[in-house]
Amino acid sequence: MASNKKLLVLPGDGIGPEVMREVGHVIDWMARRRRAVFDIAEDIVGGACIDAHGIAIRPETVQRAREADAVLFGSVGGPKWDTLGFDKRPELSILTLRKELGLFANLRPAIVLDPLVDASTLKADVIKGLDIMIVRESTGGIYFGEPRGVETLPDGTKRGINTEVYTTPEIERVARVAFELARKRQGRLCSVEKANVMESGLLWRQTVTALGAAEYPDVELSHMYADNCAMQMVRNPRQFDVIVTGNLFGDILSDLASMLTGSLGMLPSATLGAVQGDGRRHALYEPIHGSAPDIAGKGIANPMAQMLSFAMLLRYSFGMDEDALIIERACTNVLASGLRTADVMAPGCAKVSTSVMGEAVVRELDKLGS
Ligand code: NAD
Repeated sequence: MASNKKLLVLPGDGIGPEVMREVGHVIDWMARRRRAVFDIAEDIVGGACIDAHGIAIRPETVQRAREADAVLFGSVGGPKWDTLGFDKRPELSILTLRKELGLFANLRPAIVLDPLVDASTLKADVIKGLDIMIVRESTGGIYFGEPRGVETLPDGTKRGINTEVYTTPEIERVARVAFELARKRQGRLCSVEKANVMESGLLWRQTVTALGAAEYPDVELSHMYADNCAMQMVRNPRQFDVIVTGNLFGDILSDLASMLTGSLGMLPSATLGAVQGDGRRHALYEPIHGSAPDIAGKGIANPMAQMLSFAMLLRYSFGMDEDALIIERACTNVLASGLRTADVMAPGCAKVSTSVMGEAVVRELDKLGS
């Protein structure tokens, strides 16, 4: 029996608990059929935690996240808590976890599965087979740089200030994550900044270039300005393998890339921290979608983004590539069989609920994993 792995499961609000329930069935299947047993702790975060305890995440939950091998997060938020101030919002739960666990590398795959090729707004021949990975630095850059704020000038007008700041260690650690990923994929990394107009971008380019030459000569490194990258991603997205970029450009480019796939309910993500002395690294996995209050409670949410987030967890926290692949294949096969939740519905397919979709994935896992 494989050794137990500690997971902290945080379903959150809205559709979070609905889609997380389906992951529970996959975890049960893993224990039954793949002999992989997880020690699972579950806790409340977000609006649910605000209702119960008055805060978005409790310190003991953060501590449990620190002790876990990986955190599987659902989604938080909803209209009920929209009027709260920024210091009280449900979203603080995820921001607190990112900060406290030092989760600096946000990995967002943008993959177009064959059965969903028509879900994109781009032509099928441009995006068929798309498989890119965007690595976004997520704890630095202009969202955190000082000075920041709004000041009143002597003439009574105002000035808003934010500062893009990156140090070489910050650039190196996120670039390392991206180089390592590229090595396991097609061996190509594109580093994105605005070195033509920003000093911090020039430092980014020089640092990534030096790191590539010193430690990753086997990875084909290219550089691109962020504006050109946005254009290239729409023109010919398959030219990319792994992209690494800062917080601001990564925010925009990863949203753009995910929409190339046309299906929010399908997209997972991972956020990784540094490898520690004992070889462990903090990591949090979550779908990119939110709590979808418009469909919460209706049993129609697509559980696949959450399931695929669990597959990423297996791959990146436990090196269980084969298990991750089986889950990914099961999702693709179920879609190919014509079962669809409403968000990815297409003519000729059968519209099913969250739980029917979850059951179909587990049935497919039975076929693939036996
Ligand atoms: P959203 O991602 O929740 O929903 C956008 C649209 O996509 C909605 O129409 C929704 O029904 C649909 N959708 C999303 N996930 C789906 C799924 N799995 N299956 C089928 N349809 C799906 O974004 P939003 O409406 O802008 O935000 C709603 C709430 O979620 C807000 O409170 C927001 O702050 C929060 N949010 C949380 C996170 C997070 O927890 N990390 C991320 C984004 C938004």
